[in-house]
Amino acid sequence: MRALVLRDGRATVESVARPVPADDETLVEVRCVGVCATDLALAKGYMGFAGVPGHEFVGVARGGPLDGRRVVGEINAGCGTCARCRAGDPRHCEARTVLGIFRRPGAFAEALALPTRNLLAVPDDVPDEAAVFTEPLAAALQIPSQVAIVPGAPALVAGDGRLGILCAHALAEAGAEVTLAGRHPERASLLPAGARLVTGLLESDAPPPAERVYGLAVEATGRADVLPRLLPHVRPGGTIVLKTTTERPVTLDLAPLVVDEITLLGSRCGRFAPALALLASGRVPWSAMVADRFPLEQAPRALQRAAEPGVLKVLVDVR
Ligand SMILES: [Zn+2]
Ligand SMILES: [Zn+2]
Repeated sequence: MRALVLRDGRATVESVARPVPADDETLVEVRCVGVCATDLALAKGYMGFAGVPGHEFVGVARGGPLDGRRVVGEINAGCGTCARCRAGDPRHCEARTVLGIFRRPGAFAEALALPTRNLLAVPDDVPDEAAVFTEPLAAALQIPSQVAIVPGAPALVAGDGRLGILCAHALAEAGAEVTLAGRHPERASLLPAGARLVTGLLESDAPPPAERVYGLAVEATGRADVLPRLLPHVRPGGTIVLKTTTERPVTLDLAPLVVDEITLLGSRCGRFAPALALLASGRVPWSAMVADRFPLEQAPRALQRAAEPGVLKVLVDVR
């Protein structure tokens, strides 16, 4: 089968072996894949990755209980036997593989294999182009599953990229009054009702805030210089959620965390069912976020396009 392969800083489309699903796995024929910031980092050599990337997919299950259905799949494949897996949550299984990221070939391919328990059927009224947003939206919805959100309380999201916009929706769904600090005023149209977009707030020349307004702040820029500028906006007792890794280490004076009892909280993958339900509601403007689409044979161009400044979502159509 054909697949995008990353190796030694190069991206090529090649013929590779079709995955053979294990007993507890199902083969999925891929239909559409979203390019994610993680894919761009892997292409640059993050985690020493070599192989087939891609984890934001929709496809058709071949075999198993969902045979013939359109499916999305949670990307962490657990061992199935440890305490975490037996409790139904493989996201922190010590022996996990991660689709297209860690020791499991990914979705920029004609087919992939995932544990059958990871797959969810996509409702008929959710098109493929929306379903590929399930994984990043689930990651955004992980925030309200970790932090109690007070309805009407102000929350600040740093970053008006793909993930920041989805985080704004996740927080607004939970009742927060969302401010998104970004660089693109026109993206205000992508925000949930009642949310606002401000520019300049977290740039290097921004003055320190006169008042600490936010009980909750989310770092979704992936830039190492943002967290130190976010901290002075957070009220004592508040929480900062880190939604992205950064390419270089963050330098931060931790004293304010102690003095003001601020919680710094890491946040990674979320569950898919709430994300699918929110996509089916029609409240997330996924179609306005799709900037470009490429066939699988042009997947390296899709990566280049997604890396261009100002581009939101780029999709790869496999079939
Ligand atoms: Zn992703
Ligand atoms: Zn496990």
